[in-house]
Amino acid sequence: MVEAFAVASGKGGTGKTTSVLALGMALAEEYDVTVVDADTGMANLLFHAGLADVDTTLHDLLVEDPELPVEDAVYERHGLSVVPCGTSLAGFSAAHPERLRDVVAELADDTDVILLDSPAALGSKSAVLPIVLADRTITVLQPTVPALSDGLKVREYARSYGTEGAGVLFNRVTDDRAVERVSASSDRYFDGPVLGVVPESEAVRAAREAGKPLLAHAPDSSAASAYREAARTLTVEAGDPGAVADRFASAVVPDPP
Ligand code: ADP
Ligand code: MG
Repeated sequence: MVEAFAVASGKGGTGKTTSVLALGMALAEEYDVTVVDADTGMANLLFHAGLADVDTTLHDLLVEDPELPVEDAVYERHGLSVVPCGTSLAGFSAAHPERLRDVVAELADDTDVILLDSPAALGSKSAVLPIVLADRTITVLQPTVPALSDGLKVREYARSYGTEGAGVLFNRVTDDRAVERVSASSDRYFDGPVLGVVPESEAVRAAREAGKPLLAHAPDSSAASAYREAARTLTVEAGDPGAVADRFASAVVPDPP
């Protein structure tokens, strides 16, 4: 069984990378979870996951003729299989974004849930690929009108490629009334439920500084509880790994809008 989710938003800094690891760890209590840093231009999941010093990353798999097997870039950490991406500009320049299809197609054989940490914005092939390839998107939103507007653009684009919405995750929330106001419209425009409401939290910042995922650094924080609740709300619709792999491998890579 496998389902691939793109964790996306229109804006940077909404908490996608934080959410990929936190949701991933919460889902790992029930599923075999693989998280992939598909934000290949501005990769930073490795810093959040304590993998800053690893040699082999996704960049090494996205080159023209990769010499390494996919498993060389998969690290078992915090109960997850983690595929970090390198941070060098040279690595990004040498990468062929569309090879992400083949990498994910291989990963699909051996996991239940794939979370793709996706780039902000829609400006390039590498930015649109994760939301085009995924089965569904999880949209991470700060409860503000500009964030909502950017998030909606991403949803609209994803939908035009048949990627459904798995729901909205509000993050960095300081005022519940803002969530109420924004969810009134998000219900109308986003397919899927509000998965969770994660507060702005010192624990999240501290975890990032410690180079650990939130659920490892501060499992008892209110932010961690909110992520566990979100993972319970998310219903994983498992597909057949072979079918998912075939679909990824044969996906058409679109030009960005
Ligand atoms: P993105 O991947 O969307 O760019 P990150 O997950 O890297 O966002 O988060 C951006 C910054 O905001 C990081 O420094 C992170 O620690 C911080 N952050 C994310 N979520 C929260 C939160 N709920 N409370 C406080 N800080 C947060
Ligand atoms: Mg990020």
